Amino acid sequence: MQQHGTEQHRTEQHRTEQSVTVIGLGPMGQAMAGAFLDQGYEVTVWNRTASRADDLVARGALLAPDVEKALAANELVVLSLTDYDAVYATLGPADAALAGRVLVNLSSDTPEKARAAARWAEERGAVQLTGGVTVPPSGIGGAESSTFYSGPRDVYDRHRAALEVITGRTDHRGEDPGLAALMYQIGMVMFWTSMLSYWQAVALADANGLSAADILPHAVETANSLPGFFSFYAERIDAGRHVGDVDRLAMGTASVEHVLHTNADAGVDTTLPAAVVELFRRGMAAGHAADSFSSLVELLKKAEV
Ligand code: NDP
Repeated sequence: MQQHGTEQHRTEQHRTEQSVTVIGLGPMGQAMAGAFLDQGYEVTVWNRTASRADDLVARGALLAPDVEKALAANELVVLSLTDYDAVYATLGPADAALAGRVLVNLSSDTPEKARAAARWAEERGAVQLTGGVTVPPSGIGGAESSTFYSGPRDVYDRHRAALEVITGRTDHRGEDPGLAALMYQIGMVMFWTSMLSYWQAVALADANGLSAADILPHAVETANSLPGFFSFYAERIDAGRHVGDVDRLAMGTASVEHVLHTNADAGVDTTLPAAVVELFRRGMAAGHAADSFSSLVELLKKAEV
């Protein structure tokens, strides 16, 4: 494995405009470093498990021997770590090297943690741009892929060309460093629960002798119908209108009970459908039987006491 030797490694910040440091070489960080290499950037990388840099080094990346040197190499530092605890674990011991750095933090975590990390960086003379990447590793470098950003607008503007190497589309949501993390989490609550609903459907199908492939066209069609529902309800929800003209919570409750019973009869796990039934029943108990099932939003706005 090629590594920056003591002589080889530049301790001074690289002068070229097209140079970047990528810290964290999981599937995402590897794809990001690869995308920068493809675009002719000089790429310095560091990862806790150094062997994960092997392929990138073979393609021309420079492996920094430690985090300090990775930080020293470039003003622009992309962080792609599991979460913010990993960010502190990685940068904490090298925090003297943070001054003057722009940390493009693409590690996912909560908005509150993103805000705290931005303050932490500022106290050390660095600035954080929080990012929330909306595509998997295969989408990194794609023209249509997108990332939410938040933090100082001038820093975002100055580094936009590099950010657009990671994903062709970028969306700066505002100065608050928590906003990008919030947008990311809004996507993730939908992603995880939707995927879980698909796993449930596959389990139910399997219990009835149908494979995932057998139900694929039906699953895809069902998923593709959802955007139409989002668009229809968004305007009504924002206007506080949960009128039961096209659907009623009472009808929805009967339907989700059928779902629960179908799953129970098949002998598959009912945790998910039972949780759905529980929410619908709470809506009924709150007096929304004749309202649209979008009235459940009002219930979800407050944690149950
Ligand atoms: P991984 O969790 O696979 O890898 C992240 C990196 O974090 C690895 O390089 C790992 O180092 C490092 N790491 C973890 N804990 C520590 C620690 N305590 N100290 C030092 N380094 C640590 O994540 P991904 O590459 O899949 O994703 C990176 C980020 O992007 C995550 O926050 C993820 O949620 C987000 N994301 C991921 C997507 C995906 O599809 N994978 C899509 C969109 C966002 P080591 O190699 O040594 O273990």
